[in-house]
Parts: sequence; structure tokens; C-alpha cells
Amino acid sequence: MAQIINGKEIAQTIKDEMRIEVEELKKAGKSCCLAVIQVGDDPASSVYVSNKKKACAYIGIDSLSYELPEETTEEELLALIDKLNLDEAVHGILCQLPLPRHINEKTILNRISPKKDVDGFHPQNVGALVVGDFGFVSCTPAGVIQLLKRSNVEMEGKNCVVIGRSNIVGKPMALLMLRENATVTICHSKTKNLKEICKEADILIVAIGKPKFINKDYVKEGAVVIDVGIHRDENNKLCGDVDYADVEPLCSAITPVPGGVGPMTICMLMKNCLEAMKYYS
Ligand code: NAD
Repeated sequence: MAQIINGKEIAQTIKDEMRIEVEELKKAGKSCCLAVIQVGDDPASSVYVSNKKKACAYIGIDSLSYELPEETTEEELLALIDKLNLDEAVHGILCQLPLPRHINEKTILNRISPKKDVDGFHPQNVGALVVGDFGFVSCTPAGVIQLLKRSNVEMEGKNCVVIGRSNIVGKPMALLMLRENATVTICHSKTKNLKEICKEADILIVAIGKPKFINKDYVKEGAVVIDVGIHRDENNKLCGDVDYADVEPLCSAITPVPGGVGPMTICMLMKNCLEAMKYYS
């Protein structure tokens, strides 16, 4: 029987640890504040933004909410970011993606001060991860590392295969596993012999964006499988990139969907915000 890596429980533990820390900081007269910007009213974005604000409230991080109309111009959004960059009371700035088509996402994300870039998307923070300096790390891959550490999964010297090379998940994930001294292989849509490569993995991290793509033919007996994907299946039930029922009997440990990687993302966002306050203010 595989160990089920319970992301919900691990995220709750980390949130409770932060809550205590924030309480102590408040006693010392220090508070932490996250500014959350949403442009337009995409329903999925509204849910994410609302969950982020709820997590802030639980931990004791103040949140400032900027709900801007769909017609907001790039210049107006840049002006808000400039203002928040200068505001000493604001420690983290989050601009919910996707942005409306007329706004260039890269221009916006690159304008957020690297010191307040709690999503870890700014090239300066990505560069810091590459060279091993302090910086903010993209929340989902940072959450995967926490899941592995807190489930006592040894990473050093292990063969780790990451499927997916996006800037948000795959690339930072591979760099983080390298930092943990794993031997890392990155696979992507042009990879040949995907099954054979995955079969070599002690730790298989899947971020493809295709429901139930990975079945038991890709998994070595005893492997640890981390499923980053989130989808709705034909019955409208949440599922991941991994065919859980097929793969689970083979693994030594596996993350379920829901309740695996998902809950860790917001948790790591909160952690980055707290770090921003402690490191830079
Ligand atoms: P993306 O579409 O940007 O990247 C997908 C990657 O998979 C690409 O690099 C591509 O090369 C690779 N890929 C596609 N088809 C492949 C194939 N047949 N074989 C091998 N590689 C293939 O997606 P993303 O933003 O990295 O997200 C990946 C998944 O993770 C999605 O399901 C997304 O919803 C989910 N996600 C979850 C969270 C979370 O909080 N749990 C956060 C971000 C993304």
C-alpha cells in the first residue's frame, strides 16, 4: 500500500506554524501585508483570489484587495504596481493571472519589485534560484518540496524525473530538486521514450496538464509519484495528470488529487509573503 501524501494536512500544519509566528511578530510590533490585484471578473480567478484572502486572514497577514475593471489599461495597472512597490507597509504583491488580452503579462510581472514578488515569477528571483541565492520561489514547486520533506522522502542522490517545463512549475521544480541533490531529468512534449525515462524515476513529478495521462506503464515499482495536474474528469470529478487508481498500487508514496499538491500552493504564497517581510523590511 502506498503512503498517501496528505497535502491538506501538511498545508494546515504549515499555516498553523505561520499563524503562531505572525502572532509573535505582531507582539513585536511587526505586521505583514499582501496586496492582491485582480483585473476583470473571471470566475476562476475570483475563487483563487478569495482563497488567498481567506488564507491571509487565517494566518494573520493583512490583505489589500484591488479589484479592477476589465477595461483597465496596462499603464493604469503599472501605475498601481509602482505605487505598491513604493509602499513600505506592503510586503508582497500578487497580480492574479490570467490578465485581459490587452495587457502584457510579462511587462506587468517584471514591474513588480523582486523584493515583493511573492509568486516568484520575476526573472531576478528565477535567476537567484538558478545560482542558489536567496529569492522567492514559484509557490507550487516550493510546495512539492515541502510535501516531500515533511513526508520524509529522501531526495539526495535519487533519480528524479520532472515531466513539464513551464516557467511556473516544471523548470523551477527541476531546479529545486537539483538543489536537494537529486539527479534530475526534465521531460516535455518533444521527449522521446517518455515511458522508459519515467520508469527510471525514484521520484516522478508530473506537471503535463493532461488528465490521467500517466498510468502504470510509466512508473517503476516503489517510486514516489507527485501529481501537480488539476482537471475535471468526464464525471466532473477532480483528477490529476496521473491515473491514480492505476498507479497507486505500484508506488511507495503518491499525492492524491484533490488534497495533494493543490493546498500547498497558497500556503507557500503566504510563506513567501512572510519571508518578504522578514528579509526586506
Ligand atoms: P503548461 O501547459 O504550461 O506546461 C505543460 C508542460 O507539459 C509543457 O512544458 C509541455 O512540454 C509538457 N507536456 C505536454 N504534453 C506532454 C506530453 N505528451 N509528454 C510530455 N510532456 C508534455 O502547464 P503548467 O502551468 O506547468 O501546469 C501543469 C499542470 O499543473 C496543469 O494541469 C495545471 O492545471 C496544474 N497546476 C496546478 C497547480 C496547483 O496549485 N496544484 C499550479 C499550477 C499548475
